[in-house]
Amino acid sequence: MTTETIPLELSADHRTAMHEIYRHLHSHPELSMQETETADFILKALTDLGIEAYLCGGTGVVGVLRNGEGPVVGFRADTDGLPMLEDTGLDFASRARGTLADGTDVPVMHGCGHDTHITAALTAARLLTEGTETWAGTVVFIFQPGEETAAGAKAMVEDGIWDKAPKPEVIYGQHVWPGLAGTVNISRGTAMAMADSWKITVQGRQAHGSQPDQSIDPIVLGAHMVVRIQTIVAREVHPMKSAVVTIGTFHAGLKENIIPDTAEFSVNVRTFDPEVREVVLGSLRRIIKAEADASGAPAPAIEEISSFPQCYNDPDTTDALIKEFHLTLGEGSVNEVPPVMGSEDFGLFATAIGVPSVYWMFGAYAQERLDADTPLPGNHSPYFAPDLEPTLTTGVRAAMTAILSKVAR
Ligand code: ZN
Ligand code: ZN
Repeated sequence: MTTETIPLELSADHRTAMHEIYRHLHSHPELSMQETETADFILKALTDLGIEAYLCGGTGVVGVLRNGEGPVVGFRADTDGLPMLEDTGLDFASRARGTLADGTDVPVMHGCGHDTHITAALTAARLLTEGTETWAGTVVFIFQPGEETAAGAKAMVEDGIWDKAPKPEVIYGQHVWPGLAGTVNISRGTAMAMADSWKITVQGRQAHGSQPDQSIDPIVLGAHMVVRIQTIVAREVHPMKSAVVTIGTFHAGLKENIIPDTAEFSVNVRTFDPEVREVVLGSLRRIIKAEADASGAPAPAIEEISSFPQCYNDPDTTDALIKEFHLTLGEGSVNEVPPVMGSEDFGLFATAIGVPSVYWMFGAYAQERLDADTPLPGNHSPYFAPDLEPTLTTGVRAAMTAILSKVAR
C-alpha cells in the first residue's frame, strides 16, 4: 500500500457531513443496550451508502461492504453513552435522559466519546464506497452497543454475528482519549486490562442494637472481608506482576440501633495476566467464604456484574499497522505505549473466531488546548469535549489506514 493509492482525503463536503453526524450523535446519546435510535441512525446511514446492514445482539448493527474478491477485514465502533449529566456548555450538548435497569431516571451523555467512534466509522464507510477502485475485498463494520457494561460484544457474538457476517482475518478498533489530536497511542501485545466486577451479599442475622449476642453482624463481618481482601495484591500476587482490587461500594443498615440482616459490597479487579486473574479471583472467593465461616454466617452470594476480556494486540499485526500509521499520520504521530488499566470488550469479536485484533487510541485535543494551563477533562468527565478537528479526521484516517492495509489494491 502507498499513501497515494488510498482515498484518505476528506473534502470540505465530507467534513461538513461528518461534523453533522457527530453533532447529531452527541446530542442524542443512549444508555448501554438501549441504543435503539442510534442503531436506526447507523442502519440508515449504511443503507444510504448501499451497504448491506442489519441488527445483531439487540441494538448492535453489522454493515457488510463487499467489493469483489479479496481479504475480509473487520472494524468495530462502540455506540453507547453513559448515565451522567453533560456540563460541556457546547451548543449541541446532550439533554437526553434514560432509565437504568433498576428504573432510575438519569441524564445521558456521550461521556466516553463513543460518538467520535461511530462518526469515524461511518465516514470511513463512505470513503470506501466512493473509492471502490482503490481496494478489493470485504469490510465488516461492527457497531457494538453496551461497551460500558461489557454486555454488547457478548450479545453480538451470542446472537451469531460470525454465523451471518463473513469472518474477517483481522479485526481493528479504536478509542478517543484526552491526548494530542492527530496522534495515536498503540501498545504491542497486551493493550488493556481484564476487568472483573462482582457484587457480594453478606448474609447476617438481624437483631436489636442492644442485643448483639442475638445477631450475626454483617457489617463487622463485611468490614473484615474488605480489610482482608486488601492483602491479595500485597501478599498473594507475584511482586513482578500487577493487579488492582478496588471495593467501590459498601452498603448496610438503616438505623444505628438495628444490626441489619445483610451487607452488600462490590469489588472491581484489574489484571493483565490470565494466571494472575485466576489467583486474585480464587483468593477473593476463599476470603469471602472463610470470613463468613469465621462469623458463623452462611456463604455469601457472589454475583458477577461484568467481565471484560483481555484486549491483546497481536504483535506482528501491530508492527505492520504501526508502519502504515507512520506513512499516513506522519512519523511523529505514532506513540508506542505500555498497556493501560482500563478495559474493553472489543477483544471478544476476535477471540470468538481465533483471529488477531489491534486496538489503538486517537487524541482528542488540539495543541492550543493542551498548551493551556488548565488540566483537560478525560473520558467519563462531564466536561469531556473533544476538539472536532483534527480529532475526527484522524479517527477516519486511522480507521482507513487499518482497513486499507489489508484490502488496498
Ligand atoms: Zn468509557
Ligand atoms: Zn469508551
